[in-house]
Formats: sequence, structure tokens, C-alpha cells
Amino acid sequence: MLCYSTNDPQGKTYPILEAIQLGLAPDGGLFMPVNIPKVKPEWLENLPDRDLPGLAFDISRLYFPELPVSTLESICADAFNFPAPLVTLNPEIKILELFHGPTLAFKDFGARFMARILGYSNAKQDLPLHILVATSGDTGGAVADGFFQVPGIEVTVLFPKGKISPLQQKQITTLGKNIRAVALEGTFDDCQAMVKKALVDPVMTRKYRMSSANSINLSRLIPQSFYYFEAYRQLDPGTKPVFVVPSGNFGNLVAGILAQRMGLPVAHFIAATNRNDIVPSYLKDGVFRPKPSVETLSNAMDVGNPSNFRRLESLFGSTWNNMRQMISGYAYTDTQTLEAIDRIHRDYNYLLDPHGAVGLLAAEEYQLDVHHHKPLIVLETAHPAKFLAAYETLNIQVEIPERLANKAQAEDLSVILPNDYTQFIEWFSESHPV
Ligand SMILES: *Cc1c(COP(=O)(O)O)cnc(C)c1O
Repeated sequence: MLCYSTNDPQGKTYPILEAIQLGLAPDGGLFMPVNIPKVKPEWLENLPDRDLPGLAFDISRLYFPELPVSTLESICADAFNFPAPLVTLNPEIKILELFHGPTLAFKDFGARFMARILGYSNAKQDLPLHILVATSGDTGGAVADGFFQVPGIEVTVLFPKGKISPLQQKQITTLGKNIRAVALEGTFDDCQAMVKKALVDPVMTRKYRMSSANSINLSRLIPQSFYYFEAYRQLDPGTKPVFVVPSGNFGNLVAGILAQRMGLPVAHFIAATNRNDIVPSYLKDGVFRPKPSVETLSNAMDVGNPSNFRRLESLFGSTWNNMRQMISGYAYTDTQTLEAIDRIHRDYNYLLDPHGAVGLLAAEEYQLDVHHHKPLIVLETAHPAKFLAAYETLNIQVEIPERLANKAQAEDLSVILPNDYTQFIEWFSESHPV
């Protein structure tokens, strides 16, 4: 499987394992597969007999033919050891629950798969691979958990001290073993600058093999296409769903389009955003206008310049009209989001998280705009327990899943470091002697 860079579609190609190791193409573009593999119609017909790890294995074989079959099989069984159930909300709308993984958000799918693929491709190396990652909250937890105890990989997560939620912090800092956590006395941007500097610092690169676990990595996108198939598998045979995708950087939506190009029957996609409505407004008038992000309740979607937009353009040949025929966009405020959480809770006794609530609003508006389509599948990207503050104003009690509650009790193993590159490097060298 070969990949190209979105900055130079006709240019140099890279074997997929190299693309994954690099993360970003050397010319700054994002990697995409040259040929999106197709699933066979018979395979789709027999899909109800598979399960999530099984269909993940079947699809990953098409992307990673260079990996031994038994390795891929155990990677998929290990990475996707939790369900993605499709729940019926009403006769038209279903919810695909993507929060049953260890860190309660869909990012577990990408992070767990990426960690195991990197673990495999680095197993023959003498030196460990050091993954450095800066986080403003959610990604750090998924990456830390995904890479936990993967042989040959050492992870360092930097987060801004006191600026992430206590539970998010515990998800990063309590694992230990090959996961080290640094509470940096600075902002998220300081964390990111520190990581970027270390990754290209000759003193460091001479001593350590290093990489990042950025969300634009292709090995995080590919596994996100698996749950679109898993949703389809749970539908009545022959139905063609519309998928509603709460979006920020648009990796999730790109994964859905990939699934469709692989052969999954999909009628339409809906991009749902909060007030950071760059893509919905592009779909309206064809002009892509990045702007500084604004803070909202659905903060994992607070993105002002969605990085995967270039992948969308590349999939639709840069033509606005092509994209518009397959994707509709809707955007909502926090007030509307809270209203939807409250109303759905009262009407159906179902508790949406703020991201899923944005998706639900988009599903309802699409139903009114377009004649009633059946079924619409809303991707529920996180568990409500990750966003407790939103529910306090609504007077709704949120049940905290055991795996999150347990984290609250565990010991915080992070080190506190000043925002000073030299001290960071000293700490890193001391904790990773060569
Ligand atoms: C990351 C995230 C999103 C946004 O996903 P993208 O792939 O960046 O569009 C939505 N909801 C939750 C809960 C997330 O963590």
C-alpha cells in the first residue's frame, strides 16, 4: 500500500508503514492512500456474521498487506476489545456509541490501533521508539492508554499544569511503566513548542529514535473507518444510512468517506459543528475561511482551522460542488446544545454528551430540510461523564463509569517541570538513560 502527500498528489509515494512512522509528509502535506482498497460485495453481505475485531482485521489486511496475518489479527483483537453498539433513539434516528473504550471517547479506536501498528513496525529495532505528545486534554489520555505497555515504545505526554480537568489529568498520569507524564508550568502552546523543538533537536535525535502521535497520522484515521462498517453491520439488511458526524479536525468524517469509498453503502454525510463552523460555512458558499477558535461546551470540536480539510479536498478533487453533494453542514450554539441534551433526556431518557447533542440537532434539522430519511446514525463521540460541568446547569445526575471513577483514586505519577527547554531535556535524559 502506497501513500501520497496532499501537497503533491502526483509526486513521491511512500510505503504505508513509512508514512505512519513519519506522521506528516516531509513537504508538510497529509498522507493519503494512492488507491483506496475496495471490499467485496459478498463480504458486505456476510458482514452480520463478523464482529468488530473480525471486520477490522479483514479491512486492515487490505491496507497492511505487508504485515503477517496473525499479527494483524491479534492487533485488531487487542485494540478493539470493547463494543460500538448502535442504539435506537426513535424510528428515524439511531446513536452509534463510540465511548465504550478505556478513555470514554472515540479517539480510543485510533490511538489503540496506531500504538499496536507502531509497536509492530518498531519491534525489530534495537532502540526503543520515543513518542512525544503535547495535549490540551482528550488526546493525551487516549494516546497514553493506547500505548500503555506496548513493547519497544516509550511515551512522554506533556500537558499544561492546572489547565486540564482533574479526571483528564488522571487518565494521563496514573499509568506509569512506559508512560511518563509531565505537568508543564505553561500553556498548551508551550507544551507543543517543547515537543516540536525536541523532535528536531540534533542532540536528542542523535541519542533517541523519536516520533509523535499526532491526530493527523493516517494510522489513526484508518481504524476510525471500521466503526462505520460496524454500524452498518447492526442495521437491517439493505438499508443505506446517513451518518451524522460531530466534527472538529474532521478526521472522523474523512474516515467515514474512506469507508464509503471502500464500498460501504452510505446515502449522505452530515458535518455537525458548534460555533466553530468553518466547514458548514464552506459548504454554503465555497469559501474556506479559517479563524481563531472560540471556546464551547463541546470543546473537542473547538477548532478554527480543521487540519483534515485538505484530506476532504483531496477526496473530492477540490471541487466544492462534489463535496456538497455528499456532505451537508450544520452548526449550533451552546444554548441549543444544552436544550437538546435536556429535551432528549426528558423525551427518551437518553443522556447525550455535548458533542453528540450537536450531532443530534443536525440530524433533526436535516430531517426537516430533506424528506425524512431512514435511518440517520448520529456518532456519539464521548461519554457524558467527561463533561460534568455541562450537566450541573441542567440539574442532571451523570453516572460515572467504573473505569473513570477508578482513575480518580489512582496515584498521580507526573513530574512538574518549569517551561524551560534545558530542564526538560535534562529530565528526559535522566529518565531515559542510554
Ligand atoms: C476529537 C473529538 C471530536 C472531533 O473529532 P474530529 O475527528 O477532530 O473531527 C468530537 N468529539 C469528541 C468527543 C472528540 O474527542
